[in-house]
Amino acid sequence: MRQWAGPGPVPRWLLHADMDAFYAAVEARDEPGLRGRPVVVGGTGNRSVVASANYEARGYGVRSAMPMAQARRLCPQAAFVPPRFDVYHRYSESFHAIALSFTPLVEGIGLDEVFLDVSGCVALFGSPAEIAVTIRRRVTEELGLSCSIGAGPSKLVAKLASKAAKPRASTRGPVPGRGTLVVPEAEVHSFLWPLAVEALWGVGQASAERLHKLGVNTVGELAALPVASVVACLGQAAGQMLHSLAWGRDPRQVEPGRAAKSIGHEETYSTDIVGRQDLDARLVVMADKVAGHVREQGLVARTVVLKVRYGDFKTLTRSHTFATPQATAPSFWTAARALLDGLELRDGVRLLGVSASGLLESGASSGQQLQLPLGPAPAVAGARAGPAGSAVAGARPLAATSGRTAIVPGPGEGAAWAKASQAVDAVRARFGAGALRPGTSLVEPERAKGRRPPEPP
Ligand SMILES: [Mg+2]
Repeated sequence: MRQWAGPGPVPRWLLHADMDAFYAAVEARDEPGLRGRPVVVGGTGNRSVVASANYEARGYGVRSAMPMAQARRLCPQAAFVPPRFDVYHRYSESFHAIALSFTPLVEGIGLDEVFLDVSGCVALFGSPAEIAVTIRRRVTEELGLSCSIGAGPSKLVAKLASKAAKPRASTRGPVPGRGTLVVPEAEVHSFLWPLAVEALWGVGQASAERLHKLGVNTVGELAALPVASVVACLGQAAGQMLHSLAWGRDPRQVEPGRAAKSIGHEETYSTDIVGRQDLDARLVVMADKVAGHVREQGLVARTVVLKVRYGDFKTLTRSHTFATPQATAPSFWTAARALLDGLELRDGVRLLGVSASGLLESGASSGQQLQLPLGPAPAVAGARAGPAGSAVAGARPLAATSGRTAIVPGPGEGAAWAKASQAVDAVRARFGAGALRPGTSLVEPERAKGRRPPEPP
């Protein structure tokens, strides 16, 4: 029965589709020699971490976010592959497009996960189970990759169901998963309650330890406690929320606007970078990359985020929101450099990252990639929108975030930059990403490799 003819509201059905070992699977798909072998994707520097490991590698204990050096010790026979984010972005777009062919209510979580609200399309495409099976088949046929899908009445249940449907790693090799798991409303408690409390959103190590002290190890044991006890243990907000989740009550909606909603690039250096010039050069390269990805997807960004991690792992992020959304490298690096001005850099930087968020369609249909404005301009004191019909207004001066005079392209220059950026994209599309690089990035090889500049004698 496909049509909901019963009394009351239409039942809510959410799917969570999650690519299996995404980056590693893409690498094995594109390089047949890697199939069936342990594959670990990550940087090559001695401080790099694992970005993705396939189930063969996980059988040796390799996990995401583990230092690459440790992964090499655990599984020396693995293929160690540097990440190709531009390729993953392309596969991710196709994955999102498949989801969007069922419903516009698709929320992307990172590159490789989506939530879909299929409540309204059951009559059209079949039961949630049928939709899940179709999505999996299309991902296999069209992308040559696999994903696992959970279905349930809430995000919590759908997400945990997709996890339960995934392949597993074992010392004897990967164990295939069931691929899809559907948990109807009536089975939510019997599905959730045997799980470890750590499965719930928001249960980190600290709250898990507190709950264990209360004798709570499973979701069911948490549900059985009076809510007042949970609040006494974890505080008002967290206590209330986790108790609700333990009963399967999760009202969160699928939020389509949030899909893929930041594009970024970050680098961890084998030796902390101390020179400001060196940091600036890297920022320019990164900002250029990020801006290229933003334009590639036909987007513009409201906000640029700078991330800095120091040698002691203290991590800071700073953001700047443009008066009008931008997609050019100079607007991004100008903002990022001004943000860097506000940070203490004396002891060197271990990790540097630039990302673009608040992404909007650039209105590329006109053929002019950076046609503006796009929706309401963010409120910035004294900001003026770009002249109507002009391609792009320059970034706002960064007086609020910068002690130095920022070099900011003015409105006229903004238009010129937009044109130049399109030309850059055209050249890269033809000759590859390395064909053009910003002039500032032509630093001497020593710096480019992440080493300290030589000490003066
Ligand atoms: Mg995944």
